[in-house]
Amino acid sequence: MKPSTSLALTALLLVQPMVLQAADNGRGPAAPASARCAAMEEVPLAAVRIHDNFWLPKLKIYRDNLIPNVWPNLARPTALLESAAKHEKKERLKGEHPYMEGDMHKILEAASCALVLNPDPELERRIDDLITVVGAAQQPDGYVDAYCITHGLVPWSKRNNDNEDGYVTGFLLEGAVAHYRATGKKIYLDIACKAADSAWRYFVEQKNPGFPGHPEIEPALAELYRVTHDTKYLDLLRVLIDARGQVHGDSKGAYLQDHLPIRQQNDIKGHAVCAMFFATGVADLGLETGEKSICAAARRLWISTTRKKMYVTGGVGSNPKSEAFGENYELPNREAYCESCANCGLVNFAHRMLQMDGDAAAADVLELALYNAVLHGIALDGRSTYSYTTPLSDANHSREGWGMCCPSTLYRTLMQVGRYVYGFSANDLYVNLFVGSTGQVPLTNGPVTIRQETQYPWNGSVLIHVDPAKDTQFALRVRIPGWSRDAELQLNGKKIEPLEVVKGYAVIRRSWRKGDTVQVELPMPVRRVEAHHSVDADRGKVTIQRGPIVYGLEALDNDGRALVSLPADPKFQSEPRPDMLDGVTVIRGLTRDEKPFLAIPFYALANRGPSIQEVWLYQSGKRDQKDGWETKLYREYAGSNQPSK
Ligand SMILES: [Zn+2]
Repeated sequence: MKPSTSLALTALLLVQPMVLQAADNGRGPAAPASARCAAMEEVPLAAVRIHDNFWLPKLKIYRDNLIPNVWPNLARPTALLESAAKHEKKERLKGEHPYMEGDMHKILEAASCALVLNPDPELERRIDDLITVVGAAQQPDGYVDAYCITHGLVPWSKRNNDNEDGYVTGFLLEGAVAHYRATGKKIYLDIACKAADSAWRYFVEQKNPGFPGHPEIEPALAELYRVTHDTKYLDLLRVLIDARGQVHGDSKGAYLQDHLPIRQQNDIKGHAVCAMFFATGVADLGLETGEKSICAAARRLWISTTRKKMYVTGGVGSNPKSEAFGENYELPNREAYCESCANCGLVNFAHRMLQMDGDAAAADVLELALYNAVLHGIALDGRSTYSYTTPLSDANHSREGWGMCCPSTLYRTLMQVGRYVYGFSANDLYVNLFVGSTGQVPLTNGPVTIRQETQYPWNGSVLIHVDPAKDTQFALRVRIPGWSRDAELQLNGKKIEPLEVVKGYAVIRRSWRKGDTVQVELPMPVRRVEAHHSVDADRGKVTIQRGPIVYGLEALDNDGRALVSLPADPKFQSEPRPDMLDGVTVIRGLTRDEKPFLAIPFYALANRGPSIQEVWLYQSGKRDQKDGWETKLYREYAGSNQPSK
């Protein structure tokens, strides 16, 4: 059997029956399709096979770590769930936190995604065992937060209590949806539905005010709705979003996005992880209901995040004391918070906004955060250490062990890279990310297999094979990254001129036939990138970037120093180093005092022990340019005498 045939069968087996089962499970009528407000649908994980030299080795590392290195960290939440099943009461132990139970569901989600990558009976057995533990702890009313059960806390009670049942239950829902999509089994999904029903009764049927603490149940309810088609979960999502800003005089308001009703919120505020998870839920509600005022609110939060409050690496959250977003343009580098969970949250928020508007600018942010801020959060070996915060300047950066929320969030986010690669609408096929992969895309005019061959992110050449089942008319939309200049596309060996570009995607409309190819050339010169003149921390400085990769200097490569000055007109050389840091392209240059320096990808920093690191470097002769910024937070720096792009 040819790989492509095998893949097509796999995709059909994994995707089609599940959609049918989900639509036919008797849980309720499907929402009218016209209510959706999505320019682009997701091509699901099971329909995308990654086979490149960048992501596939990383996915294998994460998968192979699950049983020997990740599973032992789930002992504590497992024990708590077993206590809940036995109706035992507990005192809070030192080092025990309400959120820890979420780790287990996040790892069940990541492990389910690993099953899509490769069947693994031992992993599947372990997943089933943990799901049995979760099921045994579920209360007769469906509630299943073991921390709250064993500590005698009131379920779904107001957000100022020490509950994180909205967070834990949210990840339960996400884990169950991923497990169902991966295996077709309904046992975890049934537990999730009962747990969500418990919240529905409390907030919708009984009309109790408020919302359950740390957000996450919001985007999770949208995911649960997508597989069950039960509008009850959309109703609950709407009630929880609308509950914000209804209680006055509360000091925690903005911290939990509760300062104003959602239709009056203009700025992203508060705890960065909460804000990203909440904003994702707002975008989900807009996507699924098409409600214009909700879509508009999601767009305002998106613009506030990406044009005023995002780091050049795609990290978010600038205040380490409160773990929160700062004011507009308040982006200190040494003190940056940028929790890995918040960075992962931005990837999810970007994915929803990409689907809502089909604008490549959202895919630019998704790519930026994924290849830089998110990937930095996990050591190259995928297990030894993780970063809770991901600052852009650090005097002694060291990673930490498991013991926090981020490792499991990183695992669940990175194992789902395949979801972000392609998108589609009726007869449009989107290439969002350049990843060597094969996708099965169900266009209205017939199924299409699309395959990319590329050495991205190190090289901007991408060969796209388009194989419709039969000759089919549709538009192929290939993202032209915001960072690229002079992109060129060839159709079956012939340059496409002029190139039609709509919302950042090159559009090729034709009747496609098996064997058609599109060659994409995205030149990748080393670029200097500057920040908006209102960002105090970056004044007089630039970052070095190449393609989607942001670079940083580590003292151990540079004679003990990392913060260097670049000459007015620096020359850079990029050099592939397959022997270094699991294979990277490094950048070499000379400082202003003509000393050689070496820069490595930001994501690969802090993998060789504690290190001094810098992303923003001094740029000789740089002065504030206050014009031409329009909607940009960052732009290419062309030098002191030339207009920037
Ligand atoms: Zn975290």
